Amino acid sequence: MVAGEALAESTLQALRADFRGTLIEPGTAGYDEARSVWNGNIDKRPALIARCSGVADVVAAVNFARDNGLVVAVRGGGHNAAGYGTCDDGIVIDLSPMKGVRVDPAARTAFVQGGATWADFDRETQVFGLATTGGTVSNTGVGGLTLGGGIGWLQGEHGLSCDNLLSADVVTADGRCLRASATENPDLFWGLRGGGGNFGAVTAFEFKLHPVGPLVLGGMVVHPQSEAKAVLRFYREFAQRLPDAGGISGAALLTLPDGTPAVAMLLVYNGPLDEGERVLAPARQFGSPIADLIQPMPYCVRQTLLDEAFAAHGIQRYWKSGDAAELSDAIIDLLVEGAAGCPSPLSSIALFRLQGAFARVAPDATAFALREPLWDLNVVSQWIDPGDSEQNIGWARGLWAQVEPLTGGGRVYVNHFAADDKPERIRASYGPNYERLAALKRRYDPENLFRLNPNIRPAG
Ligand SMILES: Cc1cc2nc3c(=O)[nH]c(=O)nc-3n(C[C@H](O)[C@H](O)[C@H](O)COP(=O)(O)OP(=O)(O)OC[C@H]3O[C@@H](n4cnc5c(N)ncnc54)[C@H](O)[C@@H]3O)c2cc1C
Repeated sequence: MVAGEALAESTLQALRADFRGTLIEPGTAGYDEARSVWNGNIDKRPALIARCSGVADVVAAVNFARDNGLVVAVRGGGHNAAGYGTCDDGIVIDLSPMKGVRVDPAARTAFVQGGATWADFDRETQVFGLATTGGTVSNTGVGGLTLGGGIGWLQGEHGLSCDNLLSADVVTADGRCLRASATENPDLFWGLRGGGGNFGAVTAFEFKLHPVGPLVLGGMVVHPQSEAKAVLRFYREFAQRLPDAGGISGAALLTLPDGTPAVAMLLVYNGPLDEGERVLAPARQFGSPIADLIQPMPYCVRQTLLDEAFAAHGIQRYWKSGDAAELSDAIIDLLVEGAAGCPSPLSSIALFRLQGAFARVAPDATAFALREPLWDLNVVSQWIDPGDSEQNIGWARGLWAQVEPLTGGGRVYVNHFAADDKPERIRASYGPNYERLAALKRRYDPENLFRLNPNIRPAG
């Protein structure tokens, strides 16, 4: 098939008869909007976008794709930087109309459909003063983020998003609807908690919730970038001493809206406000910040703190990432020097300290294997003009090529896997869990229908 070509009407007829949502084809109104994803550098032209209204539509679309040998992209929030939520020529099974969230405040659980974003989720759960670990940017999909693991501000106390998953409803490659939980299909449940979208389209997730807020402490302390080496050395020591309620924390090399190059410490506290003020005080007193933006705020507002930096839908992006056990002086120096040579003011270098509850889960308890305290390093390149792609991608690649050898192990949080990363990185990141995942893949998706993800090949 030629990219962007529609499927033959005779082929489509069977699906039309069995579909309640919207089928969007090349050349029809809304196709360009429907095929676009958050990363505008991903410019794919699917043969069909199937916007599903419910589970029956997802089953119909999966069966149709399999029976017609189509490449399948499952789209949740459409936020994946590598562009796994779309494809050329094949079918996008678009779950984005499926955003329902139902909270059971007595049981402290929430059911959420597979196309919801964290903004949808947090809005409903905070009605009851409840939350679970979600992403640091509110318009990221619950689906992709949870299946790959799920890093967020509550992680120090409550673990990853996938650690809070109680069950999932999954449409598998053979079109069956399975529930996965600790008691139903427990092998599948194990694989869904970190194994990405490899095992099927998840139509609903059930999460455990925790009392959070309504007011929490959060924000950033900003210094000039000329102080970055000292700030990041201070932050490295400070972050590792934070209690679980200090969540995960982060630091970013970025350009402020007025053009000032800066370094920011991104800090939160999930407990009583006065306690948080005491815990975060040393970071606010360090050096001479140009801004101290740490303050009490509603939980839902804190969940949007980083939104602005990543808001623009469809601009050009390229992302390199990896995990390091130690944040050495050499890594800090390379990142700071790399930031100084950054060609775009929209780009940033972000690092997060992951520690606390997530690291107290055994590496083989779920598919997510990276269970020791670590540093998640991200070179996030963003620019407007597609003509500047070579320069900006070159910057991110060049910087990462220098940093990666210092990280050790070549491991990466799979949700940050780049499309041009080597597949060995996936294997390294799952470590000893990889063989079990490959066996599970053979059981649930032997033909690798769901392969647009950090792919686990079915065991041979
Ligand atoms: C600005 C930004 C901020 C981010 N911040 C964080 C963060 O704080 N913490 C964190 O952990 N990650 C973060 N990420 C990474 C994020 O977790 C991944 O990009 C994730 O893949 C996005 O999920 P999505 O559903 O929005 O993406 P999509 O592009 O829709 O999908 C991504 C992958 O997940 C699969 N998928 C999505 N939904 C389903 C489903 N319901 N069933 C089966 N498969 C599904 C898709 O098939 C695809 O392989 C961030 C990404 C961006 C761009």
